[in-house]
Amino acid sequence: MPNHEASFSLQKVSELLRREGLRMTKKREGILRALFEAKGPMTLQEIQSAAGQQSAATPDYATVFRTVLLMEKLRLVHKVNLQRSRSHYELSDPHKHYDHLVCRDCGDVVLIDIPCPIGDSEKLIARQYGFRDLSHSLEFFGVCSSCSK
Ligand SMILES: [Zn+2]
Ligand SMILES: [Zn+2]
Repeated sequence: MPNHEASFSLQKVSELLRREGLRMTKKREGILRALFEAKGPMTLQEIQSAAGQQSAATPDYATVFRTVLLMEKLRLVHKVNLQRSRSHYELSDPHKHYDHLVCRDCGDVVLIDIPCPIGDSEKLIARQYGFRDLSHSLEFFGVCSSCSK
């Protein structure tokens, strides 16, 4: 994963959470580190165990749940629809764009880094329907190259 810009650093995100009244404990910091070092969207359970590896103390599930949901509300994290029973989350840097390619066989998730295929349509939709501040999440499902060998 490419480095996050200074504008969206671990420090910046903890500062925003602190401003919302969240105490920055070691365990919460572990949750943030886990999200920043994620290779792809993670379930709350995966965030919990990765956070444990980050901070030596595993946060309880309720702490992960509350922290991630508050981050989602603040738009620091978003949910990715992988068509699986559990929700997957990833960081949401406002300067970046997140569309995904998902392998139906191995479940691999790739962040697409070509210009957004529907960027122009989004502007058109906003104009046409009088909406502002639009966002979207686009997931393409297919079979990856190693699975199709
Ligand atoms: Zn695959
Ligand atoms: Zn897009």
